[in-house]
Amino acid sequence: MSTTEQADLVIIGGGPAGLSAAIAARRAGVPSVVVLDEGLAPGGQIFRRYGPGFTITDPHSAGHEYRDGAALIAAAEASGAEIRARTVVWGAWERTLACVSNEERAYTLTARAIVVATGARDRAVAFPGWTLPGVITAGAAKTMVAIQRVLPGRRILMAGSGPLALAFSAQLRDYGANIVAVAEAAPPPGLADLAQLARDGAPQVLLEALRYRATLLRHGIPYETMTGIVRVEGDREVERAVVARLDRDWRVMPGTEREIAVDTVVLGYGLESNSELSRLLNCTQRFDRTGGGWVPVKDQRMRTSEPGIYAAGDGGGVGGSRSALQQGVIAGIAAAEELGALAATKAGELLRAPLRRLARVERFVATLNRIYAVGPGLYERATPDTLVCRCEEKSEADLEALIAEGVTDVNTIRAQSRIGMGRCQGRNCASHVAATIARITGRDIASITPPTARPPLKPVPLGAIAEERYQAEAAVEIK
Ligand SMILES: Cc1cc2nc3c(=O)[nH]c(=O)nc-3n(C[C@H](O)[C@H](O)[C@H](O)COP(=O)(O)OP(=O)(O)OC[C@H]3O[C@@H](n4cnc5c(N)ncnc54)[C@H](O)[C@@H]3O)c2cc1C
Repeated sequence: MSTTEQADLVIIGGGPAGLSAAIAARRAGVPSVVVLDEGLAPGGQIFRRYGPGFTITDPHSAGHEYRDGAALIAAAEASGAEIRARTVVWGAWERTLACVSNEERAYTLTARAIVVATGARDRAVAFPGWTLPGVITAGAAKTMVAIQRVLPGRRILMAGSGPLALAFSAQLRDYGANIVAVAEAAPPPGLADLAQLARDGAPQVLLEALRYRATLLRHGIPYETMTGIVRVEGDREVERAVVARLDRDWRVMPGTEREIAVDTVVLGYGLESNSELSRLLNCTQRFDRTGGGWVPVKDQRMRTSEPGIYAAGDGGGVGGSRSALQQGVIAGIAAAEELGALAATKAGELLRAPLRRLARVERFVATLNRIYAVGPGLYERATPDTLVCRCEEKSEADLEALIAEGVTDVNTIRAQSRIGMGRCQGRNCASHVAATIARITGRDIASITPPTARPPLKPVPLGAIAEERYQAEAAVEIK
């Protein structure tokens, strides 16, 4: 059954950014606030809830992320915001969003203002063997162990970079996984970097990192810096991984390759922003090398280039959950002012504290991003027969042949070859395509136009869309 609904503020994404935006907007007096999230329950990536069939009898054993998330979700529910889980936003036309709830109910929702808080995803990396069963991302591994209580494999190599790769490795070990080695692509942080992080004021985060490192040491798990995955081999599934020493650009140093016998390779090469929805909403984008790839341009108040559209949290540039929480509050207050629920002076007053907290977090994130900046070598592992677009089964050779013919635009490559046109809509391959264009043509990757976002942004049942369309057309005819 098709319907068209209205709300003052619609927030897409029920993670830390979306929920804190909802709470702030409701507290500021915005009458109707709706949060849409495709997950089974609100919480986003870090505060992900357990699925149906699980009952939490002891919240303490579920960890502090679970407890922090439960408090935030309870506050969002108590704020009077309407939270709709299992709702995919698959299209957007100006301020009207096309949604499908519970895989069957299609409707459109028109908002006076929108906060895009769509979070981030694991960065995909194409190298020989990356499509073999047994190669998974860190986020998937974390969901398996933390939410479904299933270990991803028996002998696991963690290959990645940055704090999440370290945290995931220690957390997986704590869940009983056999981590054979951790290959960190970046060099170890220098003393000056560590001092800077400490000055940026997050001693608890540094302590947490030390605890994770201690877990690896205690269990005798090798943690090798400037080391990366080169290829994965196996008949029908992962049997061994080949790693090598890397230079400072993450390029493989010849003659340093070695094999490790594993059945699982977990990849944690950082996150990329889910900026498709902001692109569909026409928000101007910029390329953020260290903070998530293509991201919407926004100002201090989280306003994008499009009036009435805000971007908060990892979807507007990867900054982690502490940054997402503050950005959400700022977006909620700024939207409340725009919607007339708050006077400008009151809004300015309310914004002071979250802006100050955000500035502090951002200094910390900037230092981390500098230490763990993705090296161009990460996108140079594919060999000619490596699939780079796994949805459409297109290889590195297909991609390079097009670029050699002079096709050096992500969208034209998509139109001519279908690379990036499949189920994932380029989420797995667009960065590789852009990096390959940059490498072959000598252009700066930041100058490459992002792929145009097209509905449906996410896979949704065709029947639901068709039904909605049919209802809408019937309504027009009756008029
Ligand atoms: C896989 C993964 C694992 C992580 N694990 C950790 C960790 O262990 N520790 C840690 O400190 N940080 C972790 N992070 C980082 C941390 O989760 C984020 O920094 C933080 O959650 C950002 O909050 P957010 O609100 O911006 O986005 P998120 O928490 O990612 O929330 C965004 C929400 O938007 C929803 N969404 C996106 N697109 C749509 C759409 N079209 N329609 C409807 N809903 C949509 C998603 O379902 C998601 O729930 C992880 C990130 C990822 C991607």
